[in-house]
Amino acid sequence: MAENSLQDLVRRMRAVPELKAIFTNLWGGDDVYRRFFFAHRDLLFPRIEEEDFHATIPLLFAGTDPSEPEEQVLVTAGESRRAQLEVLGETTEKKVDEISQDAKTAACLLVLRFVARNPELKALLDQGEPSWAAVAKAFAKTPPVLDIFEEFKPGPASPGADKVFYEKSRRYAAWVKDVVRKGDVVKYASAIDLSNNLIPFYGPCRSHLADLLDARDLAADEHRRILQSLYLQRMITNVGTTFWCARCQDDVTMITSRSRIAPDQLVLPCPKCTKPMHVATLYEPNPLIHEACFSTDGMLGVSIGWLLSTRGIAFHSGTYARDQELDFRLELGGRRILLEAKMHKTDKDDEAVQRHLSGDVSQAARHAEEIKKGGDRLDEVWIVTNYHHDEVEQELRGVYIRNRAKISTHGIEFVQAADLPGQLAEAATSTSTPSAGRKIRSR
Ligand SMILES: [Zn+2]
Repeated sequence: MAENSLQDLVRRMRAVPELKAIFTNLWGGDDVYRRFFFAHRDLLFPRIEEEDFHATIPLLFAGTDPSEPEEQVLVTAGESRRAQLEVLGETTEKKVDEISQDAKTAACLLVLRFVARNPELKALLDQGEPSWAAVAKAFAKTPPVLDIFEEFKPGPASPGADKVFYEKSRRYAAWVKDVVRKGDVVKYASAIDLSNNLIPFYGPCRSHLADLLDARDLAADEHRRILQSLYLQRMITNVGTTFWCARCQDDVTMITSRSRIAPDQLVLPCPKCTKPMHVATLYEPNPLIHEACFSTDGMLGVSIGWLLSTRGIAFHSGTYARDQELDFRLELGGRRILLEAKMHKTDKDDEAVQRHLSGDVSQAARHAEEIKKGGDRLDEVWIVTNYHHDEVEQELRGVYIRNRAKISTHGIEFVQAADLPGQLAEAATSTSTPSAGRKIRSR
């Protein structure tokens, strides 16, 4: 992140009084806030992962507790496709029309090809309009024909592919990906009634929420509490909500809404059987929260900037020592400190955690060397990650032991996010010896 962009974002966030509560909670005693907001953006927000396509949807999901048994998400393949196109919005309506026209033409082409590859069917049609029974018999005898889908195959066009059709299929795929990647989905989402169209997203979002809760050690009701307080501060708002009854299966009850519904109000009895219905909703966060979560070090980096600036501690961010980008440089109690914020995907195994933390030390040491080579003084390096130290205690110990030389040369120390406010206060008043090699802090 360039020097001005983080400082500028912090300045804009400080101008919104409602956001103050979030930062106060992040730096106060409420650990649940840190578990939630210091989650990597790919964990915090639902993510679509399909073959070569990965996109994070910047919406927060809430609904029936994901630890409960799998529910039916009532949607057919056809509905899902239509909805995915519709989710792209009104302004793209023309494009969708164009696609459906092309889809009709494509369907005709595929039927013609199918017939052309089946001598028996071809012969039947040549004789005039065939009977249903005769066609059914011909079908039963035909092995499945897959080579009619030449143009949909990944990679370059095969010799048998229709050139125009191939180009179209590529162009539309690229266009859909582009719209999702640019985050336009959300822009359109807030403009039109999406309560129905979001149904296809609910299934993946629900399993995503389960992953988030697991990776950040959050309980479903803790997650709901965060959303509830964000909602009451008007920092999130519904994009669309669907209620459905899994009991009335013969004739499914489904109710969609685009009203503002608070997370603790997501309860509705089925009008038929009066039992509570299943529910799924997506909340759009305030644009500044969105921007912060998607910045280089996410809410972790931005809230460190917020903490420093509200305490009146001058800092530089996003500066460079040669080609190394440095997170925060500050001076406290006469000591020059480099503070590195490291946002990791915390859903990894122990070995990956160890690699993350070792990587953080190596990078910090590289940065410290560059600063010193440039003729500047540097007394301490603080690494603030989004891990909870008591959950990675063993890994941290291993990293301290294996990197002893680097750590003592540069005064590198892992500072737990929760301890940062205290450590800043301590450093500002202390005139004591360097903290290099200090033992792992325990909370
Ligand atoms: Zn019911």
